[in-house]
Amino acid sequence: MMATDTQRLEGEIQALKRETSTIVLAHYYQVTDVQDVGDFLGDSLGLSRKAASVTSASNIVFAAVDFMAEVAKILNPSKHVYMPDRTASCPMADRLRAAEVLQHKQRFPGLPVVLYVNTLAEAKAECDVICTSANAVEVCSKVARAWGKDTIIMGPDRNLSHHVEREAGIKVVTMPERGCCYVHDQFSTEDVEYQRQRFPGAKLVVHPECKPDVQEAADFVGSTTQMLRYIEGGMADCQEYVVGTEQGLLDHLAKKHQVLRLHSLAPVPQGVACKNMKKTTLQKVRDVLLAIKAGTAGDREVLVDEQIAARARRSIDAMFTYSTASG
Ligand code: SF4
Repeated sequence: MMATDTQRLEGEIQALKRETSTIVLAHYYQVTDVQDVGDFLGDSLGLSRKAASVTSASNIVFAAVDFMAEVAKILNPSKHVYMPDRTASCPMADRLRAAEVLQHKQRFPGLPVVLYVNTLAEAKAECDVICTSANAVEVCSKVARAWGKDTIIMGPDRNLSHHVEREAGIKVVTMPERGCCYVHDQFSTEDVEYQRQRFPGAKLVVHPECKPDVQEAADFVGSTTQMLRYIEGGMADCQEYVVGTEQGLLDHLAKKHQVLRLHSLAPVPQGVACKNMKKTTLQKVRDVLLAIKAGTAGDREVLVDEQIAARARRSIDAMFTYSTASG
């Protein structure tokens, strides 16, 4: 898209936000144009906290995938929550249905169930506590202690389960057994060796959705916001990083800090992208705002059954009581 087209769309979006009393929340994995029109940019934990605290606007446009927009609706039910593209979903979240959570509870009675926020509302409604990648270790440790157990049930990411087992020193039963994020699971130890050779002075930072052997080879493992803080906090000593996560975070950091030399852990110039997150475009953000103004955005509104929402809210609220992490 030409720069002038982008500027025109950005101008329309800013005006429509004011006219329709709408706030735009955007995830770091969005394309940079969409990140730029967000009133708040964050990872799942930061966006959840922000969605819960929106009071000034009537509408929330959530530029991310559907489970995140569901969380916004659950935490702030009086707001209308819309997605620019209603088909943007997370394949990992979609794989864990409520029935499988219930089966695991029957199979392992008495064990606490902690679900990653990357789950559908129907699954959240059946668990005890939610966590994000930013607070998974803290939440799972505290839950295991509170329940008096050395084992928890967790889903749907086997790699995050490994991170929790390693850092919290507890056992984790993962459901589904092979659940993972196709974006982060594609990084390999061969990528680590190759990029370490190409960029010997760089530090390797990766997301806990990466494979266990990739996590173990890294200098730092953390959530999106934790990686961002690690890199920004270390910039005075080190300006070169190999990063094992979705390209949106690298694009955000590169735009903000031109001094940084950033390389995806995937040895290809374009890095790795979540095609589900990238379904949202600047035009679609403008279009949903136009539809809100015209009263025709019902096809992009996110609704959650009230009974499911009430039970899911309890598990999300439980996360906030266990977690001190801010993002
Ligand atoms: S990056 Fe992975 S976990 Fe996040 S939305 Fe995409 S597929 Fe789901």
